[in-house]
Amino acid sequence: MSKDADHKLDNLTDLWMPAIGIVPPDKHITCGVCGDVMRERRDIFGPTGMIESMAGNGHRHDTFTCPNRGEVWHDQVRALHSQIRDTPSVLIADMLLQEVAEVLRTRTPTKEQFSRYRF
Ligand SMILES: [Zn+2]
Repeated sequence: MSKDADHKLDNLTDLWMPAIGIVPPDKHITCGVCGDVMRERRDIFGPTGMIESMAGNGHRHDTFTCPNRGEVWHDQVRALHSQIRDTPSVLIADMLLQEVAEVLRTRTPTKEQFSRYRF
């Protein structure tokens, strides 16, 4: 990506809908999963949460979305970070971090089938 990033989100975040003005127009956000600069949609109207959506309401906000969101390798990195967060073992966490590095380097999943509902 050619844009310089000004803020990196946490390891599980690839979609962010902050209030207008939180991120100045000249600033960019990088994905917390893969590090790519996120796509920006500024000053849009709509819901930012499930309850607001179910109520048919919305408000003005910005939206930042990773261009890789939904790719299997990207979901796997998110799932691996979720496992790293939850495991009580530093040995398992180290192994999972090695796999994260490999998936990010190759941008290819090391496993196609895994739960996508926990993170
Ligand atoms: Zn990403």
